[in-house]
Amino acid sequence: MVVDARARSRGVRGCGGGSPAVAPLGGALDNHANNVSPSAVPAAGEVAADKRKHRFSVRYWLWRHTSLKRVAFCGRVAASAVASVGVRCSDGRAGFAGLQSCGSVWACPVCNAKIMARRGLELGAAVETWTKHGGRVAFMTFTVRHSRKDSLTAVWDGVASGWRRVTSGKGWTSDQLRHGVEGFVRVVEVTHGRNGWHVHLHVLVFLVGDFGDALALHRSMFGRWERGVLAAGLGTPLARAQDVQQMSAATGLDHLARYLSKAQFQGKIGHELTNSQSKTARSALSTRSTWEVLGDAANGLAKEVGLWFEWEKGSRGRRQIGWSAGLRDRLGLMVEESDDVIAAEEVGSVADTVALITGDGWRRLVGQQKLYECLRSCELGGQAGLARWLQEHGIEHELVEVD
Ligand SMILES: [Zn+2]
Repeated sequence: MVVDARARSRGVRGCGGGSPAVAPLGGALDNHANNVSPSAVPAAGEVAADKRKHRFSVRYWLWRHTSLKRVAFCGRVAASAVASVGVRCSDGRAGFAGLQSCGSVWACPVCNAKIMARRGLELGAAVETWTKHGGRVAFMTFTVRHSRKDSLTAVWDGVASGWRRVTSGKGWTSDQLRHGVEGFVRVVEVTHGRNGWHVHLHVLVFLVGDFGDALALHRSMFGRWERGVLAAGLGTPLARAQDVQQMSAATGLDHLARYLSKAQFQGKIGHELTNSQSKTARSALSTRSTWEVLGDAANGLAKEVGLWFEWEKGSRGRRQIGWSAGLRDRLGLMVEESDDVIAAEEVGSVADTVALITGDGWRRLVGQQKLYECLRSCELGGQAGLARWLQEHGIEHELVEVD
């Protein structure tokens, strides 16, 4: 099937809304994206296990220091009055069940990993489906000028204002028709560096025309971006700091993979402090992800703690990913699940429960800060391995009979 969306964009609808007038694209891939639970994504060997260990480590710091109540409770406090916490093991992956989750894609490395796994699958499926059917995807970046004096909130509000201007009014309606825009996915990325908070947008624009359309489209969008950003009180954005690239199925997924890996906590605890010189050079020359800020804060760098708190406050309630109306339908993706719902998903099902840890046992396990090690004992040694580990660490529990 060849996508004939230019005619459709002209005659039926743009990405601003309305019900889809044509059958959705997609098939096996979108089903894959919708059905794979992030918790079911297998850990890819030691590297993945190591990252998970670091995510747990940094969460211990967050439990004690975060300014966000939900993050302080995430993965630590029971979700209901039932005191015991389940340990489940399914397809070689272990997890706890019955705990609260915060659902913060910005401030919780554990919830972030789950949410990003799902979003990554969906974005990958969207690009692949669209390009497979003859459509094109442009990868655009929109940035603003900022300095150390600008607060995170001020920069973020400026970006939001710019994007509202880009995607509203007659200019946008005209762009969609003229350049064959089927829809877009807008993703926020924030880093921190010498010039303060760097809030910027990566936008995947789903197009039906050739790539020349994307270049002209980007120029037109930038004009409105500039006006929106100026209206919010920020300086004139630099044209050279914006970007537009065409994505093929292969390069597109590559781009996405790079973005998604930057957006996740990589686990650098213990590494930064051992080489302060390289850290100084890095801070002076480049920007850091917010997860690196968290890693430094957890490592005890006092000024990073203040920065992290500003991040927690300024990112709260902000959306990371936004799909234009109708695009998911068009691509055959199911209704988007919220970050909260994805983060609350647990490994396997009740039937995969191998042990129940009592309230006292759980408090002891949390105090020992050995959650990761506990899960690993189950992944590597099954129920018997877990039972041995719990015994050795004095964690009160009862085993569940398994088939
Ligand atoms: Zn969380």
